[in-house]
Amino acid sequence: MTRVNNRYNAVNLAQGFPDFDPPKEIVQSAKQALDEGFHQYAITWGSPSIRKAIAGKFAWFNGVEVDPERHVTVVCGGTEAMMAAMLAVVDPGDEVIVFEPFYENYGPDALLAGGTPVFVPLRQHGGEMRFDFDELRRAFSKKTKAIVVNTPHNPTGKVFSLEEMKAIANLCIEHDVLALTDEPYEHIIFDGEKHVTMAALPGMARRTVTTNSASKTYSVTGWRVGWAIALDDSIATAIRRVHDFLSIGAAAPLQEAVAKAIYMPLSYYGELARGYQARRDAMVSILDDAGFEYATPKGAYYVMCRYPACGYDDDLAFSHFLSEEVGVTPVPGRAFYHDPELAKPYVRFAFPKKLETLERVSERMRRLHEFRK
Ligand SMILES: *Cc1c(COP(=O)(O)O)cnc(C)c1O
Repeated sequence: MTRVNNRYNAVNLAQGFPDFDPPKEIVQSAKQALDEGFHQYAITWGSPSIRKAIAGKFAWFNGVEVDPERHVTVVCGGTEAMMAAMLAVVDPGDEVIVFEPFYENYGPDALLAGGTPVFVPLRQHGGEMRFDFDELRRAFSKKTKAIVVNTPHNPTGKVFSLEEMKAIANLCIEHDVLALTDEPYEHIIFDGEKHVTMAALPGMARRTVTTNSASKTYSVTGWRVGWAIALDDSIATAIRRVHDFLSIGAAAPLQEAVAKAIYMPLSYYGELARGYQARRDAMVSILDDAGFEYATPKGAYYVMCRYPACGYDDDLAFSHFLSEEVGVTPVPGRAFYHDPELAKPYVRFAFPKKLETLERVSERMRRLHEFRK
């Protein structure tokens, strides 16, 4: 869709990357690391400074004590973290439960590890996306090895509640299943919602692999620094072995810079959330004016919506139309569903954009009224 966007010179709300710079201090730390001579391979599972910072933050923010010497593996982005976790724990024939719509990597990750993804739908109830507990229970079988939990959720902005997380945890414990959690938006959360970390729930510490990344929290998606935390020593060792063969290590100077970024003052994290809440508010007001329907995102920086009637009943055709005729590019729903039929009414917009950019989106979306049926 980014290629389509560029063909029509539209505003790109397809790919989820910020159009603003990271904090200056973080860029300064990266330059300093280059000057200080961090040019060769770091330790494959991560330089000591970043592992110490990650373990420290996992204790103060997420409430889980981990040993940076054993439990933390630094990798090339959250993308590698989830792939390495799947390759480490999933064997051929295993099933992996994934909520649908999903971040597009989980299905391929499970397949590349030899597993089979099993999908459980999130459906809109009022202003919220929810799963049906009995449907989730039925998805657990003797073959289930893991469940992927992404909160705050891409593409819907859902924040899984404590009650939902406990229900998932209880099923994991009952069926001896691992939780692979993907938490890169843990600080991008709105309306007083609270992020719940699976590894902090009773009985889940050793059953959880927590994956995370610097990409979204510090606005550095191009740096490719992420991590996987596993309190089970054998799982942590397996992840380190897989990672060694996938990529050896993340960029050494950027590991040093992210180590420092993690010590940003608390106020940084609060402002990050407030800044994104303002963007969320701007985005949903544009969508209201243009006639889209959606569950209000409570976290992350995406909104999944039903598009208004303009003569298209196909997500891909509508996405191309919106890019070409209106000048705003979304992602068609089918990128987030295994069943293209379910995806047909939906498109996703990403809003990690300057308010000026969203102002341009607002002006262009007014054109949509000419096409409304
Ligand atoms: C952006 C994102 C990631 C991680 O991206 P990296 O840039 O590889 O760190 C992981 N999961 C979700 C749901 C994301 O949106």
